[in-house]
Amino acid sequence: MSIDATAAPTERPTSYTRGPDERVNKVTSIPFAIAHLLPLLAIFTGVSRTAIVLFMVTFWGRIFFITAGYHRYFSHRAYKLARVPQFLMAFGGTMAAQKGPLWWAGHHREHHRTSDTEADIHSPLRGFWWSHAGWILCDKYKDTPYDRIKDFAKYPELRFLNRHDWIGPWALGITCFLIGGWSGLLIGFFASTVACWHATFLVNSLAHVMGRRRFATEDTSRNSAIIAVLTMGEGWHNNHHYYQASARQGFYWWEWDPSYYILRGLATVGIVKDLKVPSEQVKASNRIKEGAFDIGIFRSHWVRASEAVRASSGSFGDRLHDGAAHAAGAVKATRESLGERVHDGAAHAAEAISERREALADKRDELGESFAQRRDQLEDVVAHTLESAEELARASRLAQRQAHLGTEN
Ligand SMILES: [Zn+2]
Ligand SMILES: [Zn+2]
Repeated sequence: MSIDATAAPTERPTSYTRGPDERVNKVTSIPFAIAHLLPLLAIFTGVSRTAIVLFMVTFWGRIFFITAGYHRYFSHRAYKLARVPQFLMAFGGTMAAQKGPLWWAGHHREHHRTSDTEADIHSPLRGFWWSHAGWILCDKYKDTPYDRIKDFAKYPELRFLNRHDWIGPWALGITCFLIGGWSGLLIGFFASTVACWHATFLVNSLAHVMGRRRFATEDTSRNSAIIAVLTMGEGWHNNHHYYQASARQGFYWWEWDPSYYILRGLATVGIVKDLKVPSEQVKASNRIKEGAFDIGIFRSHWVRASEAVRASSGSFGDRLHDGAAHAAGAVKATRESLGERVHDGAAHAAEAISERREALADKRDELGESFAQRRDQLEDVVAHTLESAEELARASRLAQRQAHLGTEN
């Protein structure tokens, strides 16, 4: 038999390897790359004070539309808006050049439904850069998942904006040019757009990798003050994965969340209604430091361990194969030189050597088989461990809930 690390997939996939259709389209990504380079032309135009003001306004303004609009409103319905402000919120979001509101929110809902499982489109377990920008530049996910966003897709004006998502960025780009000239366009629009992209993308990539976890969730989300500053409050990503319906992601006064403060302001003048926030009981439950079992992080370690097992079996197989080929080559060379030098004894020696080569091949197969068996056993063990861990997490959640009910009674 031969050892093939990629053969015979186990029932439970042990790593989030991307499919052959999950590749960055290098041609359609050219505008994305060019947008990164255009601000460099400011070397020739200089950077005017107007351009810097435009940068600040278009950066923070668009971050607000993405955070409060695309994310908290369209993806999570964390508050209510009348139809006109809803349209304006969607239009503001399109100015950030992150595609349409239905595309954005539909894919984001999918992320929450499948967070950090093998079905999660942009889990960093599929690769950090993939989760940051790769998945957006891949043809497979370019269409709007309308079945996930039926509640907003019923509005024709939102479908229009979603289809013509270029209107917002072009309108903003031209405005920046009219106000600030070339420098206004390069810095006030392009540099700001690139900064806005990466601030937003950090929530999908870094906020699942760096930071602290307060709540036991099924994913790898984390709380990060740095990301919260850059995104006007989206860095409290562990809070958010724990309680997605909340319009407030910084659960406490010290967790910077200016998007929520603005929404609160809009609520006092009646534009925003029914702002959802977590209850004290929700905030007190499922705390890791109080013993809630952290299945999200456990699962991510398990995925990495399984990947390591697979990778090691692959390289072991390769090494074994190389070794055997080497040995066979050496045997052949020896036999040839023997044949030249000792005419009579050659046949005899060749026979002995060929026997030896066969024995070597047998030994290789034997080793390979026993290694494959051991690898299968190891995969079984990790699969079972994950099942037990998931049970433990369920039991821990139940116990916490009962403990809270107990303290309330
Ligand atoms: Zn997330
Ligand atoms: Zn979300």
